[in-house]
Amino acid sequence: MFESLIDLLMFRQGGETDNHTSQPVVTLGSVVWGVLLRTALITIGWIYLVYELELFDNWWLGIFFIWLLALFPGYTQYRTFEKRIEKLSDSTLCGSCRHYRPQGQLCAILDEHVSTDHIPCEGSAWEPRAVYDTGD
Ligand code: SF4
Repeated sequence: MFESLIDLLMFRQGGETDNHTSQPVVTLGSVVWGVLLRTALITIGWIYLVYELELFDNWWLGIFFIWLLALFPGYTQYRTFEKRIEKLSDSTLCGSCRHYRPQGQLCAILDEHVSTDHIPCEGSAWEPRAVYDTGD
């Protein structure tokens, strides 16, 4: 639990190892959650500082800190995640299956994470993704 919180706050890179485990550190949900958590902490901390140090003329700096410490790192993490998941999709059977949800590295019908080492249905439930299928 505590380790997961640190992962979120630090935007720890799951990296390529996430492609080989059924418990990935970074998913789209973890990135969004990290941005929200950081934004909340920065907002609370900044409001405290504004009142404590009487920085009322510089309140807008809080928006800059949110961009610098939450939004930009979140975007960077998302781009890294996107590249990794593209590799995973190319290298697994699930990548061509209509039940695969890349945003969560998840099989939608079995509700399990997929990886290069773990295809939850072992191929038995695979169905081809149609060219026009958006995965929804
Ligand atoms: S049904 Fe099978 S092949 Fe398709 S995403 Fe789920 S585990 Fe992968």
